[in-house]
Amino acid sequence: MSFQIERRVAVVTGGSSGIGLETVRLLLESGASVAFCGRDASRLEAARDRLAEAHPEGEIFTAPCDVLDAEACREFAAQVEARFGGIDMLIANAGQGYVAHLDETPDTAWLDETNLKLRGVLNPLAAFRGALRDSDIGSLTCVNSLLALQPEPHMIATSAARAALLNLTHSLAHELIAEGIRVNSILLGMVESGQWRRRFEQREDRSQSWQEWVAGIATKRGIPMKRLGRPEEPARALVFLASPLASFTTGAALDVSGGFNRHL
Ligand code: NDP
Repeated sequence: MSFQIERRVAVVTGGSSGIGLETVRLLLESGASVAFCGRDASRLEAARDRLAEAHPEGEIFTAPCDVLDAEACREFAAQVEARFGGIDMLIANAGQGYVAHLDETPDTAWLDETNLKLRGVLNPLAAFRGALRDSDIGSLTCVNSLLALQPEPHMIATSAARAALLNLTHSLAHELIAEGIRVNSILLGMVESGQWRRRFEQREDRSQSWQEWVAGIATKRGIPMKRLGRPEEPARALVFLASPLASFTTGAALDVSGGFNRHL
């Protein structure tokens, strides 16, 4: 079944790596034109070159943009609109988690985490809102985490900030439907990606392979599917929610955690 997004325009923040990169790939495979950003220009260029090689017919635009910089988001949006003429789907994915228990969390981390999770969505939304409003299928789809409902002591600041984002997306869904913009999110468990690769590089047992290390985490944490997610799995959920296939869905938070959720 097609996502019905051929020749539509999607924007993915944090598209140079992990879940964002797989989302860009799936959007291109589905016939959409895609713009994506990240902070590091060389990673963006490397991702764009790989995608262009795999999708020579694909319409791809990329430019550096820090989602915490409102002015940079406005500039990025102006560039995307100049290139594509409009935007139909905004996927707010950029970000990372902060690993620390209560007593190791510095005062600054509380505000930094909340800022990243909230402004990381609000800045791109402000920049692209007019274009989304002009689309007949406008949607904002946010990457969130299961931590929003199921906090973890070793990611206490991120958990609190994720709960704030869940609350915000609910409000946005109700506010923006008047403009024809649907707002949904996905709640991730653990997904193999750049964040986990970086933690793997810092592992204590240097003899462990990536597969052994990942399987160990899944077992230790009690993930019923006994593995971490693969980036293409949340990518499919994101593209579904962003697409007209989810035309009667707004305000939803879709679990993509391999059964790691323990709440009803
Ligand atoms: P990656 O580190 O692989 O990718 C993160 C992407 O976001 C990169 O393209 C990065 O590029 C970009 N990015 C980070 N900060 C900014 C910023 N301020 N402005 C613009 N771009 C930014 O991570 P994942 O794919 O794992 O993570 C994607 C999202 O999923 C994140 O929001 C993360 O918190 C969330 N998540 C992931 C989980 C997991 O298990 N993987 C679990 C729960 C949530 P650059 O560094 O060049 O800016």
